[in-house]
Amino acid sequence: MNRVIRRKFSANAHLLRSLGKAFCSDAAGRASSVNHGQPISEKENKQNSGQHDIAIVGGGMVGMALACSLARMPLTKHLNVAIIDGNPTLGRRECIKREDPPDPRVSTVTPATISLFKDIGAWQYVQQHRHAYFDMMQVWDYTGLGYTRYAARDVNKEFLGCVVENKVLHSSLFSCMQDTDFQNTIYPSRLTSMALPPSSSSAETDNVSSVTPSSKQGHSAKLELSDGSSLYAKLVVGADGAKSRVRELGGFKTTGWKYSQSAVICTVELAIESHCAWQRFLPTGPIALLPMGDKFSNIVWTMNPEESSTFKSMSEDDFVKAVNNALDYGYGPHPKSGLLSSEGVLPWRRGDLTTSANECFGVPPKVVKLASARMAFPLSLMHANQYASKRVVLVGDAAHTVHPLAGQGVNLGFGDAFTLSRIIAEGIAVGIDVGEISLLKKYEAERKPANVTMMAILDGFQKAYSVDFGPLNILRAAAFHGAQYIPQLKRSIISYASGEQRLPLFF
Ligand SMILES: Cc1cc2nc3c(=O)[nH]c(=O)nc-3n(C[C@H](O)[C@H](O)[C@H](O)COP(=O)(O)OP(=O)(O)OC[C@H]3O[C@@H](n4cnc5c(N)ncnc54)[C@H](O)[C@@H]3O)c2cc1C
Repeated sequence: MNRVIRRKFSANAHLLRSLGKAFCSDAAGRASSVNHGQPISEKENKQNSGQHDIAIVGGGMVGMALACSLARMPLTKHLNVAIIDGNPTLGRRECIKREDPPDPRVSTVTPATISLFKDIGAWQYVQQHRHAYFDMMQVWDYTGLGYTRYAARDVNKEFLGCVVENKVLHSSLFSCMQDTDFQNTIYPSRLTSMALPPSSSSAETDNVSSVTPSSKQGHSAKLELSDGSSLYAKLVVGADGAKSRVRELGGFKTTGWKYSQSAVICTVELAIESHCAWQRFLPTGPIALLPMGDKFSNIVWTMNPEESSTFKSMSEDDFVKAVNNALDYGYGPHPKSGLLSSEGVLPWRRGDLTTSANECFGVPPKVVKLASARMAFPLSLMHANQYASKRVVLVGDAAHTVHPLAGQGVNLGFGDAFTLSRIIAEGIAVGIDVGEISLLKKYEAERKPANVTMMAILDGFQKAYSVDFGPLNILRAAAFHGAQYIPQLKRSIISYASGEQRLPLFF
């Protein structure tokens, strides 16, 4: 327990905030020494004994979103929460300088995510750092048979999404949580084992050891950490990513497969600033160019693993040439604007067209320079068959991983985190134990259909675009045209990709 960082923010929160902003220092370290000479409360006693209401295993973006949301809601802000993460930097305010080139690990956050961040007061922290809204998106493929342009104006919105560095999202959520009186304990260690009370059954198997009934923490799960310490919690949240230990120890089975694809990501500098998100489907997978503010853009280029090694190690000049080729004439011609125009194909829809329907195909701005290291990530699809068992629940990549082609992964995870915190609050309002299965199943019932639907759509896209076959190419072209010229379809695709739950085909 000596490595545990305890934080209790109250009257000194403002001072600590100012210090944190001025020096980007280890605010957690300072705060751990804050003690106001008050008698140790029952809550602090619980903390000292390692007893918590909730243990969040994994303090990544999704785990932190859950912690922040719990900290900000009136019904949950009194909870005593442990955050466990092997990352030693967790608990420090990260010093992110606006003038530094953006980190290549970024997320495209949807309007729905932005509005959830605003609800808990976290978006104002994101706005203090680099972030880039985009109001236009163009999608096309290498066959030259079609393209679709989406505009925020099509749905009377100001933007379609915002590209933010993962470290900015994470540190914004962390700062937002810190600037409250929330009682949280950070354990900078990895979860190694988990034992559930005897009455609990695991999700699908019985391979989880039990805590002795005589234990005073008999209604809690016992967690053991890599530094030898242990703690108890009424509810364990697995927010520990795609290789979740909580999922494994909780006996949750999964369905999924590896795509024989990797994503190469990096930051590049463009000749001119862009506010459009560009995505072109190539025979090997999609390449996306996402605005990052100023002339910076982020590249997410999906290809087979052998190619990813080559593209990662080739010279910077050759890589820049390859990117420009992939976003322009490489692999096939530009689609012709108006090949099947709105007037020719769907005359009955003419009066009702979206504003972007008559926009011409645009060529993305030229990349002039590589501005970060290149990184490669193997891609897979994975879904946990269940998200909840008694005292254990999964969120984010621990519950589901998706192909990054539509930038939805962490948005689904944020949806999980905010839904779970709301359902916990609802349970507390009526006096239900936070680890109660009936409560956790409500969360599962809400999130599973939403996640499965999105996963099926993304997987369908991945498969449809990984085959170069004449008739299928024509079908894809028809889909591009449908999305470009059928106004209701276009609007519902934009709404669905923005995080609204309605399916894109029902209009
Ligand atoms: C190339 C690429 C591009 C992407 N682009 C987008 C995008 O544009 N938009 C989008 O929405 N999504 C995107 N995603 C998906 C997104 O990055 C993930 O969905 C997101 O990072 C998942 O967050 P998480 O917090 O659930 O998991 P993670 O980020 O994996 O965090 C898990 C945390 O758990 C900790 N941990 C792991 N094991 C243990 C343990 N045993 N004990 C304690 N702690 C542990 C880790 O240290 C880590 O901090 C992309 C993914 C890839 C690969």
